[in-house]
Amino acid sequence: MDNRTGTNGAPAEARNLVHGVYCRRSHFNDPRMNYCTVCGISMTQATRLPVLGERPALGVLVLDDGTMFPLDREHVLGRGPETDPAVRDGSAKPVRLTDMSVSRVHARIVLNDWDVKVTDVGSTNGTFICPQGESEWTRILPGNQAALRSGAMVVLGRRRLRYHSHRAQSEDFSELENAWVLENSYKQRPSQAA
Ligand SMILES: [Zn+2]
Repeated sequence: MDNRTGTNGAPAEARNLVHGVYCRRSHFNDPRMNYCTVCGISMTQATRLPVLGERPALGVLVLDDGTMFPLDREHVLGRGPETDPAVRDGSAKPVRLTDMSVSRVHARIVLNDWDVKVTDVGSTNGTFICPQGESEWTRILPGNQAALRSGAMVVLGRRRLRYHSHRAQSEDFSELENAWVLENSYKQRPSQAA
């Protein structure tokens, strides 16, 4: 099973090409956005016909120790993520989480067009997510993916991180309210939660 993005035969230089729209100041945006995520101007006047362009970073991961990782490509999270083939071939960046509760290769943060998703790769202690403003944790079963919205918390063993999209001012995901990918997942509170 391989559900990583951009690896289905595309040449390396094409991996970050996505369909998007340009604002009047030539910033490249998610076609679902009503306002430019860079300058904030309305894009209702702009042509909405998506064109192929280079995907910008889709926000940042912020670890519980304050370390930040710009999401310009896939990231592999774990106690020893350097062993992952995608890290070794340069298509993914490693995020080392030094704690025995974290598996050597624990989870991946994948970029799927303009969406950020997390997937567990068979970790011992599981990967859990909690959307911002909610209190219920959902376990991501191995091999499944869950979309991350800005502010979502992710727990791996005793380590935590948060995803920020930089889109808080212009996000319009109203049509995606039910887009969480939760098939075959079950709700469970992580035993590590304080
Ligand atoms: Zn703009």
